[in-house]
Amino acid sequence: MNFTFPRLVLRSEFLSKISTPSTTYAYFLSKRNHCAVTLSLFQKSGEENLLVVGGGAAGIYGAIRAKTLAPHLTVVVIEKAKPLSKVKISGGGRCNVTNGHCVDNVILAGNYPRGNKELRGSFFSTHGPMDTMSWFSEHGVELKTELDGRVFPISDTSSTIIDCLMSEAKKRGVVLQTGKTVTSVSTTTGGKFSVKLEKRTVDYVEYVEADYLLIASGSSEQGHKLATQLGHSIVKPVPSLFTFKIDDFKLAELSGITFPKVKAKLKLEGVQKSIPEHTQVGPMLVTHWGFSGPAILRLSAWGARDLSESEYKGSLLVDFVPDLHIEDVKSLLYQHKNKFAKQKVVNSFPPELGLVKRFWKYILEREDLVEDILWASISNNLLVSVASHLKNCSFCVKGKGQFKDEFVTAGGVPLSEIFLNTMQSRIQSHLFFAGEVLNIDGVTGGFNFQNAWSGGYIAGTSIGNMVTSANMKEEAA
Ligand SMILES: Cc1cc2nc3c(=O)[nH]c(=O)nc-3n(C[C@H](O)[C@H](O)[C@H](O)COP(=O)(O)OP(=O)(O)OC[C@H]3O[C@@H](n4cnc5c(N)ncnc54)[C@H](O)[C@@H]3O)c2cc1C
Repeated sequence: MNFTFPRLVLRSEFLSKISTPSTTYAYFLSKRNHCAVTLSLFQKSGEENLLVVGGGAAGIYGAIRAKTLAPHLTVVVIEKAKPLSKVKISGGGRCNVTNGHCVDNVILAGNYPRGNKELRGSFFSTHGPMDTMSWFSEHGVELKTELDGRVFPISDTSSTIIDCLMSEAKKRGVVLQTGKTVTSVSTTTGGKFSVKLEKRTVDYVEYVEADYLLIASGSSEQGHKLATQLGHSIVKPVPSLFTFKIDDFKLAELSGITFPKVKAKLKLEGVQKSIPEHTQVGPMLVTHWGFSGPAILRLSAWGARDLSESEYKGSLLVDFVPDLHIEDVKSLLYQHKNKFAKQKVVNSFPPELGLVKRFWKYILEREDLVEDILWASISNNLLVSVASHLKNCSFCVKGKGQFKDEFVTAGGVPLSEIFLNTMQSRIQSHLFFAGEVLNIDGVTGGFNFQNAWSGGYIAGTSIGNMVTSANMKEEAA
């Protein structure tokens, strides 16, 4: 959907009749035939403009906020594909908007493997999950919080969120241009941004000048390139939130089994310096190729960088009975042996272990215990070994899978290069960042969108305030 707007487009054949502010235009026009040059971003003379790179959650939310605070600011969002396309597919099509269980900022920030220290301060105090929920409620979206804290629209469809944002953007007068990519950016001597826009399908280029630039390009490499063109560095992007492929064909037979609570630990070899260890507690699911579920996804997020370095190879150590001490597990097994000595080991096991029969059989197979053997025939040494397997079962990680409901990229513009209370660059004045383009990523549960809403809101607020205070100064002068 493109919002309509007036604009000044000058075709190349008329170029000789106009004076261009920079020689760049002339160079580019001599190289290309079918092009157009837009000399201003559609604003009335004397008014300032904001160009937003990317019509995702952060870009659209930021654009709405800036335009709300500064109605005379021309706000143009450039989106290379469809706006809010990740919102559409998010949360299995339901859009997990935010997380409603984290009221404390330190606890909230603890859900961000990249950003957990930096986000403890002003970031969520300015616009946290409760503010996001209020914003959507005030704009007509009814939300519900599920038992695990995930917040969804009551409609259970992401279209509700998209319709809300698009209609608010339109109502405020945000200009949206789709099908154009911001391919490069530089600064002008007048302190503005000279931005190059291209269409992928046709030979078409525009140059526009912007007073304010908000880069909200998500994990796209193009967005990272724009940031480097303006003097920023980039923390190498690596995937986060994925499942583990496990080298064990017998595990596939357990596909579909869910463990409500395991403690999973990752040991990665070949990674520089020390051997990093990451541990997570939570539910785990057996899939056709390995493991998934919250404990695994959180491990993949916290270990994202180390896992990338180890080429997704290492050991996964799983404690299947994390609430029991090893000595308790052993004594449960001894007691069971005494009580059910004449039963086949495959047919019964201590219920306190909370295991399913298929998994018990798998553990016995790992001990080379044949199904027919009776409890009475198992030595105490073997029982100790079974207990050890339940407490510390090792699996060989041979790669990463994909978590279809959500994945994000770790890496991007380092947080040390921006002011988190305004989202403005420390390197380039009037340049702002928000969302996944930054080196921030969260675990599953609505935390990634919350980063986009918070960052977009803070950037939009800063830009809106800068524009209005500049206008007030001008009026007072
Ligand atoms: C399948 C899936 C499901 C997910 N589900 C959830 C969920 O339920 N809850 C949650 O919290 N998180 C979820 N996430 C993560 C969440 O979608 C992202 O963290 C979030 O979308 C980031 O918002 P953003 O605005 O920073 O970036 P994006 O949403 O990625 O938006 C960036 C936009 O910029 C555009 N763009 C990039 N470069 C340029 C350029 N040079 N010129 C013009 N346009 C450009 C892109 O086309 C894109 O539309 C999910 C992710 C995936 C992949």
